[in-house]
Amino acid sequence: MLDNLTQRMARVVKTLRGEARLTEANMQDMLREVRLALLEADVALPVVRDFIAKIRDKALGEEVVGSLTPGQALVAVVQRELTALMGGDYDGQAAPLNLSVSPPAIILMAGLQGAGKTTTVGKLARLLRETQKKKVLTVSCDVYRPAAIAQLKTVTEQVGAEFFPSTPDQTPLDIARGAVDWAKRHFHDVLIVDTAGRLGIDEAMMQEITALNQALRPAETLFVVDAMLGQDAINTAKAFNEALPLTGVVLTKLDGDSRGGAALSVRHVTGKPIKFVGVGEKLDGLEVFHPDRMASRILGMGDILALVEDAQRGVDMKAAQKLADKVKKGGDFDLNDFGAQLGQMKKMGGLSTLLDKLPAQFQQAAGNADMSGAEKQLRRMEGIIQSMTPTERAKPDLIKASRKRRIAAGAGVQVQDVNRMLAQFEQMRGMMKKLKGGNLGKMMRGMRG
Ligand code: GDP
Repeated sequence: MLDNLTQRMARVVKTLRGEARLTEANMQDMLREVRLALLEADVALPVVRDFIAKIRDKALGEEVVGSLTPGQALVAVVQRELTALMGGDYDGQAAPLNLSVSPPAIILMAGLQGAGKTTTVGKLARLLRETQKKKVLTVSCDVYRPAAIAQLKTVTEQVGAEFFPSTPDQTPLDIARGAVDWAKRHFHDVLIVDTAGRLGIDEAMMQEITALNQALRPAETLFVVDAMLGQDAINTAKAFNEALPLTGVVLTKLDGDSRGGAALSVRHVTGKPIKFVGVGEKLDGLEVFHPDRMASRILGMGDILALVEDAQRGVDMKAAQKLADKVKKGGDFDLNDFGAQLGQMKKMGGLSTLLDKLPAQFQQAAGNADMSGAEKQLRRMEGIIQSMTPTERAKPDLIKASRKRRIAAGAGVQVQDVNRMLAQFEQMRGMMKKLKGGNLGKMMRGMRG
């Protein structure tokens, strides 16, 4: 689900590569992508507007300051706002079912025909039995479709809960009252009441469910809605929310090819938390809804974080800091450090890319060292360092003519190549000496994409 959204978000982060900070200007394109992604996912327009406005405010605000990169900052802001959008009441955690009333705790299910109510009753009965050891009774008040009553009986038996029989000649209220009475006398903890749905919003249906709600005073009135309905899911949610004091929403068929926008809109439109999501036809296909986890899933956080890292081109900040500390303390820059730098440069896409990112004074110094064709030399230089002894790497001044010959032979290069490499090392060592005021950290930070 929400693959498009995930992909667009990934693209958004990609476009951030090389940006130093989030600005009104570069945010513009990114916000457009986010907006398109949300609209494509069938998120309701007012929800999209609000959401974009929030992201803009937060991303441009202080929260970005001090965070590692604009890419990460944006992802973090979007993640947080997505979580809030889907229900921030419990810190992004699942909104709990309120079953702490004198038993039986009644759960009334509302929703259109085909939304997945009956299936959800079975799933919920199973979940409550297995995770909370509840004694569950189910009943169907759908007096219009005998098949619906039979279907509930089947799923209830499949999950090992108890079914309260009803017949089409009874009234929904009588059925419900009979079930409550039975549940009390047989010490059921929970009674789940399935109701009749219609194909669309219908006055008679609304009156019937409202009457049931008033008579039963349920602990939970859950609105069940098919996520695949997209915008229609939102209109239906609105209508039910106005007619009934809903306590939560169950979003079904999130496993299908739903574009998932309903998950983002329904909370905003009704003000009621999504408590469960249906993720399959089978009776174990019900999950407690965690807004924070869903936000991460939508963002494809794993991929995004990889992209963010990619955007940083693998600069090892720890290593950079270690080197900075060493240089600051007056430690000598040796060939081990030089080798590590070369490794970093390779990761960063070669010397020329690196040079673009260096402050002007260093670009000049490096330019003097004639780094043209440096990309190709990079590997050779590393080879040369590898054929030195640890002592030579730590004390480069030891490397005189005979050692140079041995090193050149070991690396399969000429002595001139060793000399050239050593000259470049000296150049770098010179720069490092100048940097001894702790500017290295700053320089490295400046290098990040
Ligand atoms: P009701 O009319 O609201 O009681 O809806 P049903 O429970 O009869 O479900 C209608 C159809 O949706 C059935 O074919 C169910 O198997 C299917 N369904 C319900 N929930 C889910 C779900 O989470 N995922 C999928 N893929 N199908 C579901």
